[in-house]
Amino acid sequence: MGFIEFNHVSKSFGRTEVIPDISLDIRQGELIVFVGPSGCGKSTLLRLLAGLEDVSSGSISINGEDVTHRQPKERNIAMVFQNYALYPHMTVEENIAFSMKLARVPKQERQKRVLQAAETLGLGELLARKPRELSGGQRQRVAMGRAIVRDPQVFLMDEPLSNLDAKLRNHMRVEIRQLQRRLGTTMIYVTHDQVEAMTMADRIVILEKGIVRQFGTPQDVYCKPANTFVADFIGSPS
Ligand code: ADP
Ligand code: MG
Repeated sequence: MGFIEFNHVSKSFGRTEVIPDISLDIRQGELIVFVGPSGCGKSTLLRLLAGLEDVSSGSISINGEDVTHRQPKERNIAMVFQNYALYPHMTVEENIAFSMKLARVPKQERQKRVLQAAETLGLGELLARKPRELSGGQRQRVAMGRAIVRDPQVFLMDEPLSNLDAKLRNHMRVEIRQLQRRLGTTMIYVTHDQVEAMTMADRIVILEKGIVRQFGTPQDVYCKPANTFVADFIGSPS
């Protein structure tokens, strides 16, 4: 049994069917990348898993529990978006601590977790700064800090690097990969960038129009593309 399971999940917006029927098993501790062209349903799939959208049919389970009808905050998932808005008037420390404050985590525990996250992400020196005093990469780290202090069982990232320049993006890919390994948290990472997918993933889900065209390791997908869509998209010899 998978740690995360999509069981015949479908999703329509009005009359538009975006996801016809997806079943996926994801193992605990894996870094899974959802990749595919713009509009193929990557963000929708993540939002269904996070509980930000309701499935039209099918079910989703995490760690053996059916979460299909649970509220987002009852799913123990943290999500980092592309346009991670930090609170401009708060310091780095306050930004990281804020969701714990809302969740009524006691102050001492909040401070402990902020310091741990700051150390993990190399933000120790920056805790008193405001977002405008940070570089793009540092802001991205604060956004990740906000997510990891909640100690989620699943980490979702939706194109988190798309606002960064190419050099920083390469650097942050490695950092996210290392962070995921160190924390051992199951992560689903969404991108439209094949190279990013190939370099980061334990396994890749390649999507086209809400359909899984292949689910496999980067090596599988590259060496044994299941169809011409995958071969063309990944650019593998076929
Ligand atoms: P991706 O993240 O792969 O670019 P999305 O999951 O955002 O794709 O979108 C998949 C399709 O669903 C697109 O055609 C998009 O227009 C449509 N869609 C997404 N969200 C909504 C919504 N709330 N209402 C109507 N259509 C939507
Ligand atoms: Mg998207």
